[in-house]
Amino acid sequence: MTLTFIVDRAETDQRRRDAALRELSFGAAPTDHMITIEYHVDRGWHEARVRPYGPFEVVPTSRALHYGQGIFEGMKIFGTEEGGAVAFRPDLHAARFRRSAERMAMPPLPAELFIEALEMFASVDGDWLPSGRGTSLYMRPFMFGTEETLGFRPARQFRFCLFGTPAGSYYDESVGSLSVWVSHEHVRAAPGGTGAAKCVGNYGGSLLAHTRAVAEGCDQVLWLDAHDRAYVEELGGMNVFCVVVEDGETVLRTPPASDTILNGVTRRSVIELAGDLGLRVVEDRLAIADLHEMAQDGRLREMFACGTAAGVAAIGRIKDGEHDTRIGGERTPGAVTSALRERLLDVQHGRVASRMAWLR
Ligand code: PMP
Repeated sequence: MTLTFIVDRAETDQRRRDAALRELSFGAAPTDHMITIEYHVDRGWHEARVRPYGPFEVVPTSRALHYGQGIFEGMKIFGTEEGGAVAFRPDLHAARFRRSAERMAMPPLPAELFIEALEMFASVDGDWLPSGRGTSLYMRPFMFGTEETLGFRPARQFRFCLFGTPAGSYYDESVGSLSVWVSHEHVRAAPGGTGAAKCVGNYGGSLLAHTRAVAEGCDQVLWLDAHDRAYVEELGGMNVFCVVVEDGETVLRTPPASDTILNGVTRRSVIELAGDLGLRVVEDRLAIADLHEMAQDGRLREMFACGTAAGVAAIGRIKDGEHDTRIGGERTPGAVTSALRERLLDVQHGRVASRMAWLR
């Protein structure tokens, strides 16, 4: 499915763009334009627009504000050394956006339209792409229910929107490693729930625990499973991996994808790239108690988080009640974390040929 985009050009404020590209503060400086596409149950997808970035009207009865029909994606375009641009796995982001929509009783946007919106955006605001390893143009596609009535049922009208912002490489190695705080009181997702969807409620529901993690001096929450509160699931915005030595072999371990974990595009990419480094990946449950024990007896060599925003970022500390477990000693980030991080960046910046990257 394709639509003809109505293009309403913004006036470029070069000074604002230059400042944004200098500062590269995440999410602070949206580019000049945004994309919108409307949906109505009787008309399907229609009215695709490129328009100046700015506010739109939302009526108080808009359903997304009351019943949480809202989903989003986070994805990046990277620059190449030759001055080109590479979108990182937009097909997987489009597919996840569709899965999130289905879980939230929202209309799944056709993948071709998702890609077209991305290409339109890149064509009007491609000059907001920063140069430099680890920097990117971060894009935030999202969709929400706009129908104006309050009865409890799925909306019949939705708006898709995509905007973008230049991004630096946060959690880079100069920052050191992440510390995570284990939440036992609150859970992020339960079996049968919405944990595998990138829906707004998952994030709203996890902010209280996040503020607690920060108060405990940590960067992020390490979530456990809802049933046993014993198994590691993921962080608030990243998936987790451990580098462990088992019977003399270095193995990468990560919790399996399930309906309580957001199956990250970066997670999947790391699993694929690990093969290139000759590492075996085990997708299996990971008990938090075992993690502390393995850290103590030295089997846990490294731990890292991964996601679109941060790439691959070392985890150096787990704070969990009485336990304050350090990982990797002085060698943070460890060799495996660094190798995966660099390999991923090489693919993202188009330095090595890969089917993951979409060169334009
Ligand atoms: N888990 C959660 C809860 C997230 O919000 C994200 C970020 N999208 C991730 C994991 C990592 O996913 P991705 O690698 O696709 O960015």
